[in-house]
Order: sequence, then C-alpha cells, then structure tokens
Amino acid sequence: MDEINVLVIDDEDGIRFACQRILTRMGFQTFAASRGVEGLEIIRKEVVSIVLLDLKMPGMDGLEVLRHIREEDDSILVIIITGFATIETAIEAMKHGAYDFIPKPFEPEHLRMVVDRAREKLILTMETEMLEAQRRKTLLDLGTEKSRIRTILESLPSGLVVTNMRGQVVLMNPSFFHLTGVDSCRMPGERIEAYVADEGFCNLVMEISTGRYAPTDDPPSYELALPNNVYLMAKGRPVMGEEGECIGAVINLVNITTMKVLDQLKNEFVAKVTHELRSPLSTIHEQLALVLGDMMTDDNAAEKEQEQYLLSRAKEKTQGLISLIGDLLDLSRIEAGAVTSEPVAVRLDDLLKSIVEFLGARADAKQQTLTASLPDAPLPPITADPMALESIFGNLVSNAINYTPEGGSIEVSASSDNGRIQVVVSDTGFGIDEKYLDKIFERFYRVKTDKTRFITGTGLGLPIVKSLVDGLNGTIAVESRVDQGTTFTVTLPLEKSEEAECAAPAEISAEAAS
Ligand code: ATP
Ligand code: MG
Repeated sequence: MDEINVLVIDDEDGIRFACQRILTRMGFQTFAASRGVEGLEIIRKEVVSIVLLDLKMPGMDGLEVLRHIREEDDSILVIIITGFATIETAIEAMKHGAYDFIPKPFEPEHLRMVVDRAREKLILTMETEMLEAQRRKTLLDLGTEKSRIRTILESLPSGLVVTNMRGQVVLMNPSFFHLTGVDSCRMPGERIEAYVADEGFCNLVMEISTGRYAPTDDPPSYELALPNNVYLMAKGRPVMGEEGECIGAVINLVNITTMKVLDQLKNEFVAKVTHELRSPLSTIHEQLALVLGDMMTDDNAAEKEQEQYLLSRAKEKTQGLISLIGDLLDLSRIEAGAVTSEPVAVRLDDLLKSIVEFLGARADAKQQTLTASLPDAPLPPITADPMALESIFGNLVSNAINYTPEGGSIEVSASSDNGRIQVVVSDTGFGIDEKYLDKIFERFYRVKTDKTRFITGTGLGLPIVKSLVDGLNGTIAVESRVDQGTTFTVTLPLEKSEEAECAAPAEISAEAAS
C-alpha cells in the first residue's frame, strides 16, 4: 500500500511539534502548518490522507478549513483537535464530515490510537475500492468476451446451428439462415425439423443431440440438397456437459454447390471422352478382325484390295483418335495456363496469307473460293505466340471449309484500329441456328443437321480457339444464318508490339490447321 501522509494544522508550536514527532515514529510522512490557509496550500500541492486540525486558530478557524478540505478532496480523513471548551463545536465538526476528534491536552498514546483507527479506515477504504475496480473489470471482460464470441458467430461464413439434448434449436447464426433459406426472423426454441425439412439431416441432428456419439467419435457428415439446387454439407459434434454427459449438438453447414457442379461437369466430360474414344476404337477393332479373318483364307487380288481398303480406314480412324487426344492435351494445357511458347511480334497479314495458301488445296478440292482480303498497308505487328495465332485462324478457316458446301466461298479479311486488330472469317456455308450459337464454344459440342451429320470432327476446335483468344485478352464473336453463311470476328489487342522483334510466320503444321 502507498505511504500515508499526515498533515498537522495547529497554531500552537508545542502541539504541532509533539504530533509530528509521534507520527514520524509511527512511520508516517508528515507535513505541518500553523494556519488554515497554509494547510490548504499543502493539501493542494501534496498527497495528504489524514489531517489533524485544530479548531481554534487565528484567521481562518478549523470549521472553515474543514469545509474547504471537504470541497477539495472528500477522501481525506480529518481528525479535529479541540480543547474541552469547544467539545460542542467538535460535535458540530463531526456533523460536517470530520472523521474523529481528540480533546486537548492529550497523551501520546491517545493520539496514536485515534490516528491508527484512521489509518485502518483508510486501508479498508482502499481495499474496498480495489475490489470494486476488479469486479468492474471482470464484468467488463465478461461483457467483451460475450460480444466477441457473438461477433465471431455472426461473421462465420459457414452456417451454425446449436441444439439442446432434446434436439430443440437454441442458436442459429446469420449464415445458417442465408444458406438454408430459413426466415431470419424465426426464433429458436422448436425442434430442428421445424426449420429444415430434410429427414436425413434431422435424424443426424437428433442422434448427435441425444448423445449417440461420444466426443471422440466422428459422426458421419450429411449432404443436403435444397430445392434451389444448392448443396450443403453438414457436419456435427456433441456438446459435453461438466459431468461428461451430452447436452446438445453443434452442427456446421458448408456450401458445396460449386464442388458438386464441378464434379458433375467432370463426369459429363469423362462420359463424352469415353464415348468419343469408344466408337472409332470399335470400328478399328472390327476392321482389323475382318482383315485378319480374310488373311487366313485365299488371297486373291480382289480380297487384297478389300483388305487394303479396310486397313486404310483403320489408319484414318487411328489418325482421328491421335488428333482427338492431341486436342484434349492442348485444351488442358491451355486451360492450365501452360502454353509455353514465348510471345513475339507476329505479322498477322503474312500469317493469314500462309494459312489461306496452305488450306487452299482443301478448298480447291471442294471447288470453293478461299480468299484473303488484306489492307494495302501492312498491319502493325501483334505480340503473341505464333502457334496460338495459327491454331486460332487455322481452326476457323478449316471449319469454314468443312461447313460450306461445294462451290461456296470463304473470305479472310483483317484490319486494325485503336490499338486492336480485327480478323473476320466468313463463309457462305450451312450456317448455325441462332439457338446453338452460344453452345458451339463448349467442348464436344457439334451441331448436327441433315447437311452436317456426315462431316467428321470432335467439337474441340472452337473451345481451343476460345481459350487461346482469351489468353491473348481478345474477343471472339459469331454471326450466322442457316443456309446463308457464318462470320467469326476475332479482335485482338496489339500491346507492346513495338518492343518485340518481328518473327516470320512459323511453318503451318497440319495439326494446327486440321
Ligand atoms: P474439330 O474438333 O475437329 O474442330 P468440329 O469442327 O466439329 O470438330 P468445332 O470446331 O468446335 O468442332 O465446331 C463446333 C461446331 O460448330 C461444329 O460441329 C459445327 O456444327 C459448328 N461450326 C463451326 N464453325 C462453323 C461454320 N463456319 N459454319 C457452320 N457451322 C460451324
Ligand atoms: Mg472444327
């Protein structure tokens, strides 16, 4: 405890000195004043806990000084020193807030006793104050803790519902309302089935709430399918009481809709790939079986020709499979962002010319006119991976040839403005019905009409084109009218094209354009 300072205010030197001597021996730090005003001055400057105050003094008398002290600091204990003649006044002083009084003349023993009592009172008051402060702090801590826990529960991204041992809901957090669609005004108190209408989920909650699982068990998780195609994963744990008994359950709900959708997409993808691989493989199998069977028998010229035919069909099918697998690999590499070639500055006009030249033979075979209509001034170079550009325009021109009947025409044109290059590939072919236009960029999607049914392909060309265009921060648009033709427009930003060196168009590979 801090040191207790005592101030003696008395005009009689003898009393003042005697008091100071006794108090110093008792271990107090003392101050002394012979006038009231002087005493008040000390109180203002120093920390004083007890004042011994003479009532009868010249100038400001004791009662007046007492009044000032009370105003100054209410916690100071004032002991009045008084002669027998003024005992009445002493009582008056007590009424005005003096703590005790000691009549003059007094024995040292008497003074010690009175001051000791005051000291004890001070110590008690300080202890009480400390306890009170501690109690207040504890209450404050508890309040803070409670609001902290509430804030945490309210901001949890996963849904939380707590039940008692009868499976009645005692707490639901905002995410629970949000995920399950339960009205956020609903109050807790009812059994879980009143909130969530899923039998399996309610059974699990009841089992955990009623103590079927020990705290060390791992209760099974449960998948909930809500009507609006939202999927939730529920996982719960029992809440244990002080004596180790189960007093309820805490259930956590996480939204797993995205995972479910991805899983579904993966399944569809695998199913499609399997289907695409199975039919050519079974054709190859049948053809090889036929050839082998024939080889066992006669080998006249006609059969040899037949065998050759079958083997070449089988070879074609294997080539188809190899390019399908190549496409799949390309697609997964592009989508994983692992296209390795470094971008360089490419002259798109040269590249488009060589594509048109290369695919010209296929167009000729169908008596189609395939032309490149490029501006007189060379196009600004574009920074990109040349293989990606070849793949984009090779696929588009190749599609135009495939899906345009004999005698039709295909035109590739290019222009540049505002830091962008625009390449348009248009044909006078079969066209695509409007309702399929946004589907053709999906993997394996092929529009099958009476006219296109017999054209072979895997439906991976446009998804590859789209991924590559996206990778170059460009856009691709399509317009089409059935039996009139289709126009694909690719817009690519030029970006940093001045910095890189110009590359000659790489030789077009059959794979990029097939
Ligand atoms: P591959 O993977 O061998 O390219 P594909 O040509 O069938 O096969 P995509 O290039 O992705 O696959 O094209 C998807 C579908 O879009 C085609 O099957 C066709 O129905 C339609 N299509 C694409 N380009 C044209 C076009 N120029 N005219 C008409 N239909 C087209
Ligand atoms: Mg194609």
